[in-house]
Amino acid sequence: PLPVLAVVGRPNVGKSTLVNRILGRREAVVEDTPGVTRDRVSYPGEWAGREFTLVDTGGWEVDVAGIESKVAEQAEVAVELADAVIFVVDSTVGATSTDERVVELLRRSGKPVILCANKVDGPSGEADAAYLWALGLGEPHPVSALHGRGTGDLLDAAMKVL
Ligand code: GDP
Ligand code: MG
Repeated sequence: PLPVLAVVGRPNVGKSTLVNRILGRREAVVEDTPGVTRDRVSYPGEWAGREFTLVDTGGWEVDVAGIESKVAEQAEVAVELADAVIFVVDSTVGATSTDERVVELLRRSGKPVILCANKVDGPSGEADAAYLWALGLGEPHPVSALHGRGTGDLLDAAMKVL
């Protein structure tokens, strides 16, 4: 079976946009409304001659009721099934308390984590990305999933641990 790379993070940070960018086509559903991707969705991915299964998730809100906790469960299952995780943070917002809770869960999972500082659309966003060193997940990779900036370096890093 192919190695599994899961993309997790809070709703609206750009996970589905990143998945589409990695796939090179618009397949994952991108929405301006948070929480649209309710379920885990798997796609065949390829980078630098390596094939893998790419999993988009519905976002991860810890300790929230109803449908959102279902979404959190899905993300948690995705991490369990994954060989490596791309954790996406919105660098224009910074790390929220939810992000910090997710970091704890990721750390407990023992899975390799690649930190994606998304929405760095230009050089001025690089400083925002650097703040994410504080999460203790190693180097934040500045990315614009929307424009494709930095996604090659992100995937190179992912392939090293996948
Ligand atoms: P998800 O809920 O994490 O899957 O997030 P989506 O991929 O659905 O994106 C949520 C919103 O953020 C959409 O309006 C996207 O166009 C926007 N977005 C995603 N990536 C970027 C980015 O790199 N830069 C900017 N400026 N917006 C982005
Ligand atoms: Mg989505």
